[in-house]
Amino acid sequence: MRSMTAPGAPGRCQRCLLLSAWCVCDVVGQAQPSRPEVLVVRHQWEAFKSTGTARLAALALSNLRILDMAAENPEPIREALRSLQDAWLLYPGGVAADQTVTRPKTLVVLDGTWRQTRKMLRRLPELSRLPRFSLAPPAGAEARPRLREAPRPDARSTLESIADALSELDSLECGERLLALHATFVERTRRSRGQLDASWGAAGTGG
Ligand SMILES: [Zn+2]
Repeated sequence: MRSMTAPGAPGRCQRCLLLSAWCVCDVVGQAQPSRPEVLVVRHQWEAFKSTGTARLAALALSNLRILDMAAENPEPIREALRSLQDAWLLYPGGVAADQTVTRPKTLVVLDGTWRQTRKMLRRLPELSRLPRFSLAPPAGAEARPRLREAPRPDARSTLESIADALSELDSLECGERLLALHATFVERTRRSRGQLDASWGAAGTGG
């Protein structure tokens, strides 16, 4: 089940869009830059989902940009991608980026379901030209709390993907900060839905 949240919805924090009682802005802290900077290409359907995590990453990272891809017109995104220099795409497969030599200036991240991101790859041929950076299945990933049902135990939310990528490309500290934000976001959102009982914390399960 996906919930949609319009900006300006009553009872919600205008910054993180969560219900005010469960706002995560206290743990977001001040936005900090990352190296590489992150460019999220977001499927338009993700934009106002209250479970979307790219928005939270944008609150935490001062140099993260989100471009929303409208299905009917990919041209603005294509143009933005063409202007990138020294960019990698966070995505499995393809020609792997040579991580021993260099670090990218920009990491491009696709935000959407697997089906949506595969479609984005087809509609944005500029993406195919980027070296790919793939994440290894994280140790203990199946124990990480999530909101959405993951297709595989090692499937990550967008915020987690950015966190794990920046743990490798920027610093462990940068990644851990984002993972902590993700954990708080999941916990508070589930509490707001009455999905958590006293056993939470003892054995967080994916979902
Ligand atoms: Zn908030």
